[in-house]
Amino acid sequence: MENSVLTSIANQFGSPIYVYDTEKIEHQYTRLSKAFQHVSQLQINYAVKALSNVNILSYMHSLGAGLDTVSIQEVKLGLYAGVPAQKIIFTPNGVSLEELEQAAALGVQINIDNLTSLEQFGSKHPDVPVCVRINPHVMAGGNANISVGHIDSKFGISIHQLPHIIRIVENTRMLINGIHMHTGSDILDIDVFLHAAEILFTTAKSFDNLEFLDFGSGFKVPYHPNDIETNVEELGEKLGERFQSFCEDYGKNLTLVFEPGKFLVSEAGYFLTQVNAVKQTTSTVFAQVNSGFNHLIRPMLYGSQHQIKNISNPNGRERFYSVVGYICETDTFANNRRINEISEGDMLCFHNTGAYCFSMASNYNARFRPAEVLWHQGEAKLIRKAEQFKDLIQNQVVLDLAVLKAS
Ligand SMILES: *Cc1c(COP(=O)(O)O)cnc(C)c1O
Repeated sequence: MENSVLTSIANQFGSPIYVYDTEKIEHQYTRLSKAFQHVSQLQINYAVKALSNVNILSYMHSLGAGLDTVSIQEVKLGLYAGVPAQKIIFTPNGVSLEELEQAAALGVQINIDNLTSLEQFGSKHPDVPVCVRINPHVMAGGNANISVGHIDSKFGISIHQLPHIIRIVENTRMLINGIHMHTGSDILDIDVFLHAAEILFTTAKSFDNLEFLDFGSGFKVPYHPNDIETNVEELGEKLGERFQSFCEDYGKNLTLVFEPGKFLVSEAGYFLTQVNAVKQTTSTVFAQVNSGFNHLIRPMLYGSQHQIKNISNPNGRERFYSVVGYICETDTFANNRRINEISEGDMLCFHNTGAYCFSMASNYNARFRPAEVLWHQGEAKLIRKAEQFKDLIQNQVVLDLAVLKAS
C-alpha cells in the first residue's frame, strides 16, 4: 500500500491502527489455487486464528475459502460471518468432549487429535463423520515453538498409534472421512513436506470412507525483499501430481485441503504506530512508539523480524534505531535497524502484520486494543473500533469495599 494512503488512514482513524489490504489477500488466495490447479478437488480453509475479524472471514468466504477453526468461539464467529457450517472444520487440541459435541451439533466437520476423545466421541456419535489429526513426526521448520509435528509435540495422534486408531474405529463403527496433519509453520524444504505427505498417504490407505486429505499449513511468507519463502508453485506441481496418483490408487477422487493462515493474510497487514519519543542513550538511539507487545507480540514471542518503515520521512537519510514500545516490560520490536531518520511524531509502518498480530493483542498495562481498517477497492473502511475505557471495565464487578468493611 502507498505511504500516502496509509498516512491518510492514520490521520482519519488515529493510531496505533491495523490496516488490511483485500487485494493482497485475494492475490494470495488466487496464487495458491493456481499452484494446485491440476488437483481436481481443492479446498482452501482459512485459519481463523491468524486474523479473526468477521469481515475478514466473510471476505474469505466470498473468495471461495472455508474456515479452519480451533475453538468453539471461532466456529461461532465463522457462522456469524455467514460462512456455512459445511465449510468449517474444527481442529482443536485438548478440548473437552462437550466442546467437540457442541461443534458437531452446529454441523461443522470435527477433527480429533487424541485417542481418548476419538474413543469417547465415536462411542457416543458413531454416525457423525470425523477427521483424524495425525502427527507424522516430521520437522517442517527450524523453530521448535512453531513446528508442531516433531516427536514431543502435543499435537495430533502419533503415527505410531495407527493400530490403536484403527481398533477404536472398528470397535465404535465410527466413520472416518478425513485424515489431517499440520506440521507447523515455515515449510522451507518441499521435500521434507512431501515426505510428511507420504506418511499421510500411507495412513489414508487404512480407511475406506475418506472424502478428503488435509495437509494443514505452514507456508512461509517473505518478511523482506530477499527473504526465503515457500515455493507454493513447486509444491503445487509435485504434491498435486502425487495426490492425483494417490486418488487413482485409492479408487476415488478425494478433496485436497489446505488451511493457511499466515500465507493468506500476513503480507496484507500493516500496523501504523506513532513515535512518542526519540531517546539517545550511551550506545543506542531508541524510537519509542505508542504501542507495545500488547498490540504486536510476535517479535518478542517468536523473534519475528517485521520490516519497519518511517512513512513520515521515506526519503530521509538512514540511521540505526532500536524500536521499542511503551509497555513497562522489555518490548523491543527491532534492534539496531536502519530506518529513515525518525523525528518525534513520525508514523512508523510495520509490515507483515496481518497474521497473529491483532489476534494476539491484549489489554496489558490497561491499554486499549487498536482499531482495524479494511482497505477495499480504494476505500478505507473501519472494521473494528479502538477500545475505550468502558471496554476495560465492562466485565469487572465493582464491590463497594468500604461498605463490606463496615458490615
Ligand atoms: C495455526 C494453524 C494453521 C495455520 O497456520 P499458518 O502457519 O498460519 O498457515 C493451520 N492449521 C492448524 C490446525 C493450525 O493450528
